[in-house]
Amino acid sequence: MPVYLDHSATTPLRPEAAAAWMEVASSIGNSSSIHSHGQAARRTLEEARETIAATLGVDGIEALIVSGGTEAINLAIKGLYWTRNADSERPVVVAARGEHHATIDAVEWLVDHEGAEAAWVDLLDDGAVDLTHLDRVLAENAGRIAVMTVIVANNEVGTIQPVREIAVRAVAADVPLHLDAVAAYGHVPLDLRALRSETGATGATGPVAVSVSAHKIGGPQGIGVLALHRGATVEPLQHGGGQQRRLRSGTQDVASAAAFARAALLARAELPSEGRRLRVLRDRLVAGVLASVPDTRVNGAPLDGPDRLPGNAHFAFSGCQGDSILFLLDMAGISVSTGSACQAGVPEPSHVLLAMGRSEDEARSALRVTLGRTTTDADVDAFLTAIPGVIASARKAGLSERDVALR
Ligand code: PLP
Repeated sequence: MPVYLDHSATTPLRPEAAAAWMEVASSIGNSSSIHSHGQAARRTLEEARETIAATLGVDGIEALIVSGGTEAINLAIKGLYWTRNADSERPVVVAARGEHHATIDAVEWLVDHEGAEAAWVDLLDDGAVDLTHLDRVLAENAGRIAVMTVIVANNEVGTIQPVREIAVRAVAADVPLHLDAVAAYGHVPLDLRALRSETGATGATGPVAVSVSAHKIGGPQGIGVLALHRGATVEPLQHGGGQQRRLRSGTQDVASAAAFARAALLARAELPSEGRRLRVLRDRLVAGVLASVPDTRVNGAPLDGPDRLPGNAHFAFSGCQGDSILFLLDMAGISVSTGSACQAGVPEPSHVLLAMGRSEDEARSALRVTLGRTTTDADVDAFLTAIPGVIASARKAGLSERDVALR
């Protein structure tokens, strides 16, 4: 039986979400049409929007349906930048290092094409944002910041950021804060309304935007939401039919929205019990690896603390390459990830581990194992059976490559 341990890449579609999708997709109607078919689609869409919005602590009108996490993040960062820097007085974008590429590349695009200045905030060695450095960056750029963006939970190493402390600083600096909650959604309670009220945010600054994606919680791929506080506004990325308050034109995917809503409700209901279950499985997996594979390091926040995603295990296996391990595990029928990107087929060292102060060798030796709703004890057993042999082979390959390089 193949073993799937890459739930942070995507997690299986929930049967209830698939059923909701099938039911809605079988009826005709564009939610923007005036006639009764259109109005029926509109009702289904708005019900779904309200449901998803409630899981994020916003009103339905504040939940923009988009094509996924990447679009939500681009709309938030670029849209807030354009709105806030319309008079060219606030060109700075503050972002933490080690963010998802949707953020890094959006910020770099703004630098290359729109005259933005990026101010990158360092990470500590557990992957958390360095708040002292953040304070310095905010002070150095006071009055010139368009937008600040931070990931809620790191998709590679699973570290949960001190979101409240970061939000307090955004409020004090009078800067809008976007939160990439794609990896956190379904695992960490999120409530934008509560966060705004706890941090004293008013108007268009402080925490104003949260990005999430359905396929990380058992909804369909290709749909996400940008929760945007009604006091804030973004310049749209795309133009057309003027849907969704003109902020995101385009016919909305009603069937996927209904499926997303179903998954969101289930994920919210299961959050505490699933967290406990995954933590037990994950801790057994990590303990088993550490007991059977020497020279192994666990990356990220402590496993027994509150600042780590419950289903995330992230290793550095010294002396071998993450992509060799991935390949050998795949041959054994086990799917995992290195967590980091490939550029034109060449595996890159993990930019997250580099930002955490690790060497390039360590950043190339990373393996991300992520557990989810369908993970069982048998999956963990299969991984623990395979890993010692896989690492021994990968180390041989890693060392022989180094021998060749030395000659
Ligand atoms: N942000 C984070 C933290 C992610 O983990 C991902 C997906 O892996 C994304 C953004 C992109 O989301 P999507 O795949 O829905 O475009």
